[in-house]
Amino acid sequence: MHQYSALQWISRCCVILWVLCLQGCDQSATIKADEDAKRAPWPHGAMITAANPLAVDAGKRMLVEGGNAVDAAIAAHLVLGLVEPQSSGLGGGAFLLHYDYASRATTFLDGRETAPAAATPDMFITEQGVMGYIEAWTSGKSVGTPGTVALYFEAHQRLGKLPWTTLFEPAIELAEGGFIVSPRLAGYLPMMAKRSLLAKNPGVRDYFYPEGIPLSEGTRLKNPAYAATLKRIALEGPKAFYTGEIAASMVEAARQLPHSGSLSLDDLANYSVKVRPVICGPFRDLNLCTTAPPSSGAAQIMVTSLYGHLKPQDASSDDRIAAFVDAQRLAYADRDHYFGDPDEIDVPVDTLINPLYLEARAKDRFAPSEDPTPGNVSAFNQRSDTAAFAPDTTEEMAGTTHLSIIDSFGNAVAMTATVEGPFGSQRWASGFVMNNEMTDFAKAVSDDGRPLANAVAPNRRPRSSMSPTMVFDALGELILVTGSPGGNSIPAYVAKSIIGILDWGLTPQAAVNHPNIIARGETVRVEVSSEAGKSIARNLESRGYDVKRREGENSGLHVIQVTPDGLEGAADPRREGTVAALP
Ligand code: GLU
Repeated sequence: MHQYSALQWISRCCVILWVLCLQGCDQSATIKADEDAKRAPWPHGAMITAANPLAVDAGKRMLVEGGNAVDAAIAAHLVLGLVEPQSSGLGGGAFLLHYDYASRATTFLDGRETAPAAATPDMFITEQGVMGYIEAWTSGKSVGTPGTVALYFEAHQRLGKLPWTTLFEPAIELAEGGFIVSPRLAGYLPMMAKRSLLAKNPGVRDYFYPEGIPLSEGTRLKNPAYAATLKRIALEGPKAFYTGEIAASMVEAARQLPHSGSLSLDDLANYSVKVRPVICGPFRDLNLCTTAPPSSGAAQIMVTSLYGHLKPQDASSDDRIAAFVDAQRLAYADRDHYFGDPDEIDVPVDTLINPLYLEARAKDRFAPSEDPTPGNVSAFNQRSDTAAFAPDTTEEMAGTTHLSIIDSFGNAVAMTATVEGPFGSQRWASGFVMNNEMTDFAKAVSDDGRPLANAVAPNRRPRSSMSPTMVFDALGELILVTGSPGGNSIPAYVAKSIIGILDWGLTPQAAVNHPNIIARGETVRVEVSSEAGKSIARNLESRGYDVKRREGENSGLHVIQVTPDGLEGAADPRREGTVAALP
């Protein structure tokens, strides 16, 4: 008879307890209420890490003024919308995951863009067939109803501390006084002039290419239109954005050719933020809490748990990388197949993160050259309909940002924000670019009449790879805040930060710097710009994987670890971010 080791018994008991509390089990519910009354003040000070030093400064300023993590996140993100317009801003969407130290409650606010009411499943199909990457990216059809401003307001109303108007001050000052164009922003512009409509469309043309010349690194750039928009939102609240002149400028931008979009004033006036469940699942004795669909946060629970099953005992570092690759391949196959807008389709997320499903899923074997198929969830939940989705191969582009914050009260925010492709749809509204988030939907319709989980539909939210995540220890204390941009590669990047820190024993910065490895489908992309990356590529090739060697990757991991000695943060050297700490 099989003998269980003590460790196996503990892990089985954890699984049983987890299954028992599957319905409605969250971070806060696992802790006895009377313990909260005795909760000691947070001992570790504050930290913020984000993709641009000016944004980090703005967030830090809020923290110094007595603000909390939500205040700092909004102020920092308002600056990112100015200084990093290629990644995110008012014209896009965002997910915000919040942890409240005193109550231990976690909250997920979904500010994802929605499809206009007049959107149709075949809107990306022309007489020539499904629109290609650039045609869809530059089209007006790609513009969804932006959610970021509504998210700021909802977050501030529920959780903010400083006055609403204070949050806008750093970004207004920079927009009026000017900021220095960063190498990354300047670096995009020549390529964007060739590949997109950024140098042609009204508004963006004059802002990014004054006199027809791309802005160069080091130029002081002012954005008075952005300052004017922020002043109105600061004084009048989100209705100044979702109705009136600013709303009209967004509709006009979306309606421009080519492929005029259908965004309307009604779409904007009707936008609302969704408060969705925070989903949690075990990784060893730790608890990963992350954002529910339409986010792909659940993939973090899947990858880490599958990795735990696939990693051999006494694994060498090469074995650990192979287990990480196989865990990703299985999780991506499920994510790609099943995820979509949970208000519109039945996403079997409770099954996909169920430890019993993941234990069985880890036994599914695919040769390194095979494209793994999705797991059979109907065997676990009797919902045969969810197995009937058609395959989805949606591509995502790189135009997103992530920030992580812990404030001096011990509250935390992980926020990932996006305009989808670089500079979104390259359409200019009142001082900001409009998103192209509708290209995150499946653009094709299925050949066989089966629906796609991520098909376009009116008012629907496209599936997102964005995965802001927090990890808690066995006592329920916060130990990690993480997230990244990177399109479809986000689940791989974020999982690397979690497994790198919590299993490979790396510091946050070493985990962020570690070569990225993305295993989706039948190929494995490995970042080979370092010797470590080359060695990983050789190891995987020797095991039969089809390795695509990449000199660089587009992660933007911003991570904070809570250690017994205090906070340790990391900013991704592949972007321009920094970390700031407050005692
Ligand atoms: N739009 C993508 C998403 O929501 C993210 C794109 C990126 O990270 O660059 O998943």
